[in-house]
Amino acid sequence: MIRKEYLMTPGPTPIPPEVSLVQAEPIIHHRTPAYTELFVRMVEGLKKVLLTENDVLTFAASGTGAMEGAVANCFSPGDRVLVAAGGKFGQRFAEIAREYRLEVEYYEYAWDEAADVEVISRLLREKPDIKGVFVTHSETSTGIVNDIRSIGEAVRDTPAILVVDSISGAGALELRTDEWNIDVLVTGSQKALMTPPGLAAAAVSPKAWEYVEKAGSPAFYFSFSKARKKYRSDTPETPFTPAVSLVMAMSKAVDILLQEGLEAAWERHRMLALCTRAAVQAMGLELFPKVLERAYAVTAIKAPEGISGGEIVRHMNRVHGVIIAGGQEQLKGKIFRIGHVGYYNFFDMAVALTALELTLNALGFPLEPGSGVGAAERVYLELTAG
Ligand SMILES: *Cc1c(COP(=O)(O)O)cnc(C)c1O
Repeated sequence: MIRKEYLMTPGPTPIPPEVSLVQAEPIIHHRTPAYTELFVRMVEGLKKVLLTENDVLTFAASGTGAMEGAVANCFSPGDRVLVAAGGKFGQRFAEIAREYRLEVEYYEYAWDEAADVEVISRLLREKPDIKGVFVTHSETSTGIVNDIRSIGEAVRDTPAILVVDSISGAGALELRTDEWNIDVLVTGSQKALMTPPGLAAAAVSPKAWEYVEKAGSPAFYFSFSKARKKYRSDTPETPFTPAVSLVMAMSKAVDILLQEGLEAAWERHRMLALCTRAAVQAMGLELFPKVLERAYAVTAIKAPEGISGGEIVRHMNRVHGVIIAGGQEQLKGKIFRIGHVGYYNFFDMAVALTALELTLNALGFPLEPGSGVGAAERVYLELTAG
């Protein structure tokens, strides 16, 4: 059969055809009025997506570049920071912080649970010298989404700044940077923002800027101060040559997202998650997260007894061209993940779920054809009625 691929991973994600096409346009020079207009449009659009009036700085890098930027720009070696980690991406913040010689207070919560705001509050009370709290909004490796609003309330009245990784959340899940008191919000292009990999952004609050001014760690390419200075100049630009084609792409993608409407996009992601969940449960599978509230970016599913997650991922890819993700680190082989963050609608899920039914049957986990897809369709009808 002809091979056709369906990218259903939580990053990178498929991109709208209009976004693909703008990247074929001739390169424009980055110190021209045409570029300035494009760039400002993208940054101001991102502010609307992130619901922030803070400075939004962009870098040619994958999301991790902005994570490193947050660590490098806001702190000094020896500073105590609290990292809440319940998966691979939470761990990454701790790794970066240790690399920069920060004193990491490591709060590891169970990978199938959300971070407990009470624990964060207690640690902040016990160690008042904590200067920063790092949390993952959507922990892509487990499917869990943290309650950033409550964590923001806990951090707000302390000296610490709140740094949030919403690389797989921004644009897909409810996220209110300013209202939730997020001091540094980092995101990346290749997930809900429907753009190829390679652009990262950070929204930096006034409280965080006070930290930036005092910080003693080195930062050059990812310098927040340099980036802000250039953006605030008469001809807003970046300190170094930007990824012009990606800026064209992201500018278009942000337009598309804002045209749909932020809340409509959040609701679409909730619908996709609820359909996917209903389907896999109807197939007789179990969801990995114990906390399902807010978990609308990626559906993490336990591999059934006797079949490894890897086998399911490989079969889906090889036989059906449906690319999903396996488990990472301690979850390798134990779970598999279907992404629905970004440019997806119900019919994309129907494709993935049909392929999953066929795959499970082929691997010796018998189920009635259509049992999962039927359940998804019923939820879709319920949620979109009227
Ligand atoms: C994808 C992702 C990242 C960043 O990974 P990159 O490969 O650097 O783009 C970080 N955190 C989360 C939660 C992610 O989903």
